[in-house]
Amino acid sequence: MVLSGMQRAVRWHPPAYDIRVEDVPIPQIVEPDDAILAGLCGSDLHIYRGHEDVHDVLVCGHEMVGEVVALGSNFHPKAAGRPPLYSTLKLGDKVVSPFTISCGECHFCRIGFTCRCVHSCLFGIPTLPGGQAQYARIPKAGGTLFSISALPISSPNNADLSQLADCSLLLLADILPTGVFAALQALQHPKLSPMLTRSAYPSSGFIPESLIVGAGSESAALQHKDRQLTLAIVGLGPVGVCAAVSLLDMLAGLESKEGINYRVVAIDPVESRRKKMEAIYTIISKKETSSSRKFSVSSIEDGKRIIGDWTDDVGCNAVLEVVGNPSALTLAYELVRPFGLISSVGVHQEPAMPFTGRELYDKNVSFDFGRCPVRAMFPTALDILLKRQDIFGDVGGEANLVEKVVGLDEAAESYELFDKGKCGKILFNPWK
Ligand SMILES: [Zn+2]
Ligand SMILES: [Zn+2]
Repeated sequence: MVLSGMQRAVRWHPPAYDIRVEDVPIPQIVEPDDAILAGLCGSDLHIYRGHEDVHDVLVCGHEMVGEVVALGSNFHPKAAGRPPLYSTLKLGDKVVSPFTISCGECHFCRIGFTCRCVHSCLFGIPTLPGGQAQYARIPKAGGTLFSISALPISSPNNADLSQLADCSLLLLADILPTGVFAALQALQHPKLSPMLTRSAYPSSGFIPESLIVGAGSESAALQHKDRQLTLAIVGLGPVGVCAAVSLLDMLAGLESKEGINYRVVAIDPVESRRKKMEAIYTIISKKETSSSRKFSVSSIEDGKRIIGDWTDDVGCNAVLEVVGNPSALTLAYELVRPFGLISSVGVHQEPAMPFTGRELYDKNVSFDFGRCPVRAMFPTALDILLKRQDIFGDVGGEANLVEKVVGLDEAAESYELFDKGKCGKILFNPWK
C-alpha cells in the first residue's frame, strides 16, 4: 500500500492548552525498521499543560492501537536473529504500541527494562509525532510493537482475542501496564520478601543463603500477623485505578497460593474518582471472594486514619504513588512503615523531592521511581485485561475506565474537559 497525501491530526501549539485539528502529511517509512499504523489513540495531559519543556508544534498522543498499513524493508520472512515480529508481522495485523520506542535488541530491552531502551523516545513530541492522527510511524517496530494478531486465538482465560474491542486494547499502550508495574514493583521488592518467603531478613533475599554466613541462625519464626500485607494506593486517576485492579488481582493470587492476608486503602481527594473506584471494586468483590481481604476507598484524612487503625499506627508495607507531585509523595512517606517501600509511577515535574535525607534515614524507606517498561509488561497486562473485561472491555459505564470515544473534531473540547477533571479517560478515533 502506498501512502501519500495529507491526513488530519490533533496538534498542540506552545506554550500550553492550545489544541488544533490540522492537515499534516501522512507519515512515510523512513527507516527499514519502521512500520506505519492506522488506528486509535488515548488522551494525555502532560504535554497539553506545557509541563514537558517542549517549545515546538507537535502531533499529540502516545497510546496507540491500530492496523499495520506499511512495513519497512527489514520486515521479511528471513529476518533471523532479530525480534520475531521482523519475520512475522504482516500488513493488516492488529498491534498495540507502547508509549515509547523499545528496540528489543539492546541490553535494557533484553533484560526487560524496556522503557530505558538506548533508542527510547516518547511518542507525541516534535521529533516523533504521536497517534492522534489517522496514521503514525513506529520506529524499531519489530521490537516496539505487540502483535495481537500473532497471539493464539483463545487465551488461557478462554477469551477470544479477536473479539477484544480496540478501545479495550488501547489500555495496553500505557495505563494498564503502568498500573501492573506499580503493583509488581511493590510486591517484588526485597523489602516485602520476608512476608512472601516466610524468612526473616537477611535470609529473605534472592542470594543463596549459603553465601550469607549466619543468615537465619538467630531469627525468630515469623508469626502469621507478620506476614499480613497492608498497602495503599495514592491517586485514583485512570492509572491509579489500573494499579488498584492489578494489585488486587496479584494479592488474590498470593492469598490462595501463599496464604498471605492483605488490606488495601485506595486514596484520592476527588469524590468522582472514589466513586469510580468503588463501582469497580463492587464488580471485583462479587466475583472474587476472599476471607482476609479488606479494601477501602478513602479521602486523604480517612485513609490515614484507617491505616493507623488497621496497623496500630505502624503504617503500610508499601505505598503505590500514582499522582506525580510533592504532596502525593509526602502523603506516601507519611503512610509507609519503617523498612517500607514507595513505588512511584507518577510523572514528577517539581525540581525537588519533599524530604530530607534524615527523614529517609529515619524510616529506612525505599523508593522505586519511574516510567513503566510497557513492552515487558504486555503479557501480564493482557492477562489482566482479559480477566477483567467487565471493567476494561466497555466504554462509558459506571465501572468502565474509558469514558468515551470521540472524533478528532472534539479534541480541543475533550482536552479541556479532561484537564479540568470533568471527564475520565477519552479515546480519539481519527477515522470517526
Ligand atoms: Zn532497546
Ligand atoms: Zn498515557
